[in-house]
Formats: sequence, structure tokens, C-alpha cells
Amino acid sequence: MSQDKIDIKDVTPKTFNPKTHKGKGDRFNPSNRIYVRESKGTFQMLRRYGSWFLLALFILTPWIPFGERQAILLDIGNQQFNFFGTTLYPQDLTLLALLFMIAAFGLFFITTFLGRVWCGYLCPQTVWTFMYIWFEEKLEGSANKRRKQDSGKLTSQLIMRKGLKHLAWIAIALVTGLTFVGYFVPVKSLFIDFFTFDTSFWVSFWVLFFAGCTYANAGWMRSIVCLHMCPYARFQSAMFDKDTFIVGYDTKRGETRGPRSRKADHKALGLGDCIDCDLCVQVCPTGIDIRDGLQYECINCGACIDACNKTMDRMGYEQGLINYTTEHRLAGNSTKVMRPKLLGYGAVLLVMIGLFFAQVAAVDPAGLSVIRDRTQLFRVNSSGEVENTYTLKIINKTQQTQEYKLNVSGLSDVSWYGRQTVQVKPGEVLNLPMSLGVQPDDIASPVSTIQFILTTNDEFTLEVESRFIKQL
Ligand code: SF4
Ligand code: SF4
Repeated sequence: MSQDKIDIKDVTPKTFNPKTHKGKGDRFNPSNRIYVRESKGTFQMLRRYGSWFLLALFILTPWIPFGERQAILLDIGNQQFNFFGTTLYPQDLTLLALLFMIAAFGLFFITTFLGRVWCGYLCPQTVWTFMYIWFEEKLEGSANKRRKQDSGKLTSQLIMRKGLKHLAWIAIALVTGLTFVGYFVPVKSLFIDFFTFDTSFWVSFWVLFFAGCTYANAGWMRSIVCLHMCPYARFQSAMFDKDTFIVGYDTKRGETRGPRSRKADHKALGLGDCIDCDLCVQVCPTGIDIRDGLQYECINCGACIDACNKTMDRMGYEQGLINYTTEHRLAGNSTKVMRPKLLGYGAVLLVMIGLFFAQVAAVDPAGLSVIRDRTQLFRVNSSGEVENTYTLKIINKTQQTQEYKLNVSGLSDVSWYGRQTVQVKPGEVLNLPMSLGVQPDDIASPVSTIQFILTTNDEFTLEVESRFIKQL
């Protein structure tokens, strides 16, 4: 056996840069907090506007009225899920399953194409974290100032500023908790009841629970959620390939890094374009140095790109030393956008979307189920008829009160005992006990197959099969 030693490669993730952040690398130690420096530029502007749009969508959607209800109301207690006039019941939940599959394949498609763009721009954890950082920056000052303040004495002014920051964080957390719960209980009464202490225990519990999660995740844990709690961060590398867009540092162009004067001919000095200003590290919300290569901690937020572009502008160099790029491009090869994996995800996604809309179009505006009386299969009534008893369950899935007409086919000269016209309110489930009677001579077989028929004025017809029993 050869006595040569095997080279060891250190693959420990470089998640902490002691040059810019205090402490020894334990992220759960509060003294190792990442002081994120504010970054401004094209990508930050894109994220800011995108975040505002998503926030507005999240906050305003439960307030949109539709008919007699709010447009989206997921009423778990009554098992009714309302979406803009369409009410879905547990039996329609294949739609929900399809929706989850669309979301999953949408994520696979986007991740294969654009890497962790979801994490950087759309994920609520990122949107809320950047919002919390904005308040931190405005109330406590820049990252450098905050670092200095936190290592110094706690003055009354600092206590006041920190208090204001936490108040702002708590207010955002409460609005978030209330809004989220407002998708499950009527939002108008929720806000009034919550602030007049009139909500039930469980409603208050869930509002405070989601508010607490928002405050802890966006205010305190931040990148810890992305690095140690989010499952998506773990499995997304399986979707990456060398043509996936990632945030990358152009090593060939940037190295050898080092400071220099603006007027110096850095090429003559043997230097690359990176002036080692460290701004790309200081603005990174996960505290990594993108110059160390592709790392799973990178959420593709583009903050380092904007920071570096500013430095490049100041130095009079071309922008894009850090940029959205692909591994192939970084290696000097061309990027192949249309590739089998991406096309495969795209095709499945389109099929799922098609199936979803086909299923939505097929959702009936009413539901009917028929339950036979199990205690007595049949009886002979005072008119000499064989009588079978049923309970009809009628669901009005629309947003208006509906009148339904009921009938039966498959039997001749049948007597209907019970109401044959009913009015059902929106979302109501009406239980209608009734029975059918037929003279024994008019029934050919011991067990007949019959159809209960529900019709509305606008010609909608629903048929449900059942049995009529004459004898055992
Ligand atoms: S390395 Fe750049 S893109 Fe990645 S998380 Fe840090 S700032 Fe965002
Ligand atoms: S911001 Fe650009 S120039 Fe400054 S250290 Fe990072 S890569 Fe180098």
C-alpha cells in the first residue's frame, strides 16, 4: 500500500468573515450579529418595489369584498374555502393539491433557470428581514454606527432609539399576524375584535403566534432561518446546473485583489479590478464573501452586485465584477438557456396549470349527496306503497341565495314525500329528509337504480345515483 498522504480539502462553509464581523464564528451567539450595511442600486430597487407590491398584495387581499363575503376566506371551521365567488369544499381539494404541485414545479423551474431568485426577492423571510433592517437603519443608524453603539455604553438616547425600533418591529409583526389570520376568519371583525379584546382564545393565540414568529424570524434570527431552518436551501442544489444563473465573482478579472489609488494603473501594478474594499461582504445579509466562490448561504439577493458596481463606478472600471452569471460563463464558456431539464420542468408546469384551470371550470355551482336511511331499508305506508327514506344534502357553492328544484328518475308513478323546491343560502349545506313511495306492482326488480336530479333556474342540472329497495 502506498505511504503517500492523501490531500485534504477544507470544505467547511465560510459563513463568517471575522474581518468584518465581530466574534469567533458562532452565529447563534448574539455578539456575532451580522450588521448589514444598506446597499443601493438597480437590484435593490427592484427588490424594494417588488417587496412593496407583494406586501400590498398580502395585506389588501383579505379586504377585497366579493358578493356578501371577502374574496378569499379559508373557513376551516365550516370547511368552506372561498376564492372570488367560488366555494370549494373538502371534496374539491384535488384543486388544492394541483395548486401545490404548480407551486412546486414553478419553484423547480425558476430555481433551475435563475437559481435562488425566490430566496433573494420573493421569500417572505427576505422581504420582512429587509423591511426590519430598513427600520433598524433609519432608527439606529448605519451598520458601522450600530456596531460601535452596541459595543459601547447603553445611553438613554440609545435605549429610546432601540425602543422605537422594537415598537416598529412589533407593530409590523402584529399587522402581519392579524392579516395572516384574516385569510381564515372575517378580517373586518377580526381587527375590531382583536383591539377590543373580544376575539376567542384560539384566534388571539394564532394572531400572537404568527406575530411572534415574524418578530423573531425577521428581527432576530434573519439569516439563521435561511441557513439552518429552511429545507428549500438544502435541496435546491439538486436543481442547479452549470447554466443556472447565480451571483458570481469574476475571479479572472478581480484577482489579484488589493487597494490602489484611483489614478494608478492597476494592471501595471499586477492587480485585478477588485480593490478589496469589502463592501460586498458588508452588505451581505448572510455574512458571506462571494469572492470565496459559490456558497449555499448565498440567497441571490444581488446586494453585493449593487455594492460592487458602485465601487467600480468610483474607480472608473467597468461594472459587473460581481454579477448574475453562470458557472459556464465564469469558466469562459457559453451559457445554454434552453436545456432538457429546464424544458422538462416547464412542460410539466404548463400541464399542471392546464389541469388546474380545467378542474376549476368543472367545479359545480351546487353539490348534492344522497344518504339512504340505514335503520329501515323500506316500509309499506298507509297507501300501500313501498316507501324508501333518504336525506338529501344540498350545498350552495355560489355567493347568492339559490332556488333548487328536486326530482327523481328511474321509477314510474313515484310519490315524492317532502319538499321538492328549496332555497339555500350562499355556502349553506341543507339537509333535506324526504321519502319516495311506489306501488309494489309498478316496481320490476327488488332493487332499482334511480337518479336524484337537482336543477336551478339557469338550467344547471346535477344527477346523483342511488337505490330504491322493494324487498330483500
Ligand atoms: S453573496 Fe451577494 S447575492 Fe449572495 S446573499 Fe450575499 S449579498 Fe446576497
Ligand atoms: S465590492 Fe467589489 S471591489 Fe469591493 S471587495 Fe467586493 S468584489 Fe472587491
